[in-house]
Amino acid sequence: MNSEYWKPSVRIIAIYFIISLIWIFVSELLLDQYIHKNAHFQAHFFSILKGCLFIVVTSWIFYKLIDRDFRYIRESEERYRKLVENSAEVIFVHVDGVIVYVNQAGINFIGAKNASDIIGKHLLDFVPLEDYDYTISRMKKVKEEGKIELAEQRILTPSGQKIPIETIAFKTTFHGKEAIQVIMRDITERIIAAEQINYLAYYDSITSLPNRNALNKFLQEAIEKSENFALMLLDLDRFKYINDNLGHDAGDILLKQVSKRLKGFLGNKAFLSRYGGDEFVLLLKDVEEEEVKKVASGIIEKLSYPFILEKNEYYITSSIGICMYPRDGEHPDLLLKNTDTAMYAAKESGRNAYRFFDDKMDVQYKKKLEFEQGIRRGLKNDEFLLFYQPQVNLSTDKIIGVEALIRWQHPTKGLILPDEFIPIAEDTGLIVELGDWVLQTACKQLKSWQLKGLPSIRIAVNVSIHQFLNENFVNKVANILYETGLPSNLLELEITEHVMRNHKKSITIMERLKDIGIEIALDDFGTGYSSLSVLKHLPIDNLKIDKSFIDDICTEDDQIVKSIIQMGKNLNFTIVAEGIENKEQLQLLKKYKCHIGQGFYFCKPIPPNEIEKLLNK
Ligand code: C2E
Ligand code: CA
Ligand code: CA
Repeated sequence: MNSEYWKPSVRIIAIYFIISLIWIFVSELLLDQYIHKNAHFQAHFFSILKGCLFIVVTSWIFYKLIDRDFRYIRESEERYRKLVENSAEVIFVHVDGVIVYVNQAGINFIGAKNASDIIGKHLLDFVPLEDYDYTISRMKKVKEEGKIELAEQRILTPSGQKIPIETIAFKTTFHGKEAIQVIMRDITERIIAAEQINYLAYYDSITSLPNRNALNKFLQEAIEKSENFALMLLDLDRFKYINDNLGHDAGDILLKQVSKRLKGFLGNKAFLSRYGGDEFVLLLKDVEEEEVKKVASGIIEKLSYPFILEKNEYYITSSIGICMYPRDGEHPDLLLKNTDTAMYAAKESGRNAYRFFDDKMDVQYKKKLEFEQGIRRGLKNDEFLLFYQPQVNLSTDKIIGVEALIRWQHPTKGLILPDEFIPIAEDTGLIVELGDWVLQTACKQLKSWQLKGLPSIRIAVNVSIHQFLNENFVNKVANILYETGLPSNLLELEITEHVMRNHKKSITIMERLKDIGIEIALDDFGTGYSSLSVLKHLPIDNLKIDKSFIDDICTEDDQIVKSIIQMGKNLNFTIVAEGIENKEQLQLLKKYKCHIGQGFYFCKPIPPNEIEKLLNK
């Protein structure tokens, strides 16, 4: 037992004991002296002895009682002291703002060597200047009300750091004086975690730009303040292509590069957010249309420079739709929908362009949406069919093949030509499913003609770039050939110069197709940007000169067609002339020794039963 335990209780009992003894002796002697003047000594002696006995007994009882209580108090005090001293939370006591006690956690938190560095200092020495008023008001409150609720504050350490804390305080006494005990906790980690959660909720992890949530909030606020602003939706035209062909990592890198370029160009002029996928939304406050136009064309220009991905240069373009608030809509949803409509209009105008929203666009947008749904339904309901256009050997005048050309027998609109729906199918990705159907149907058709014993011809099928670069494409073609039983050398795939944009991958695919025995034709030659010298590296068999050159062949300088034919022949390509409409064109092409011809002059695209009749002749 600690000596301090019994000291106070012994002290109290000793005082009681001594005072009682004095009282007995004094009272007995006084009685003797003045009242029982001649009392017997023996009577005194027993009376004193009796008194002493009483004192001893009561002292003992009192001692036991007091000591027990004292021990309780001491023990609980000790427990409390240890708790405070060893608490992980910072605890300190102040009297009118002057710190009189601080625990070890407090010393560590402040970064002091020992308690004496802190004790004696004023509480406000550890509070940032800008938080003085708030801290003082809390100090007043705890004095008046006895305690204050938990609240977030900040602490200023001697090294100048401002640390977020959470405090609670209540009245206490310290060495008999009224004091305030404060308990506080470092909440830095919690604040960081909350910031991270907030960050994830409001920022895009790839580009670090504000995300769709953040945009919606910002947009809502701008509308509430009824500020004038322009809302722009920017869509990267070839992002899907890069994502599909170079992989998602490359896609992410591209997004980062794009956002960096946009940030660099826009600076603080606009609120820039990543809306999702390859879409960015910008909000420009207090701007006139002229200024908006400048920004939009600036963005298009900035994004037109090549991006470096995997050490190669890639070009992407962007389409921008713009709405002006409040002119083009008063609610966030409507504004966003209208920028989307305007963006599609920009895409349709040939991409790499911007468009301001106008009401007429809405009609076009709806039409597009209708088409998209229509194509899905059409695929399910067998509304598509194939027409075939003969290809003629120009030296023998015999049909050597047919090109399969898709048609849509729409339930209400009648027969729709591909130029009207293929671009939409490409935009929406439906082209893959549609293209599969075309391949399957065309191969089946030729096989059935073969089985009917018709003269042997080959079949040409148009393949869209999306389809062609699809991972599974070669396997799909091989499967279709296997299932239909069509010999591979009777299938020709027509691709366009778009494949040159990713020529490495395209060449691999072409080579795999050629390994199977399939022929490859380059369609619409002359309309793209590739020259013959580039083409010589491609494993293609046939070159289809675009109709536009054939149109001009008689009217203008015919040297272009002549040289295309000659150079193509030098590269060992079979040359096909498309869109021959009259005899003069045909004669010139024959003169230049073009191999194959196709066009209305011979035959328009016709349904399969008519091809049968033709082949039977
Ligand atoms: P293309 O591959 O260049 O097809 C040739 C187009 O020229 C066909 O139009 C054909 O009807 C037309 N044509 C042929 N000869 C003449 C002529 O002498 N004069 C004129 N004025 N036109 C002629 P169509 O059938 O409307 O096809 C348009 C385009 O649609 C095709 O151009 C092709 O790019 C695309 N297409 C058609 N079918 C499919 C398909 O199954 N899949 C894919 N991906 N695209 C297809
Ligand atoms: Ca074609
Ligand atoms: Ca063509």
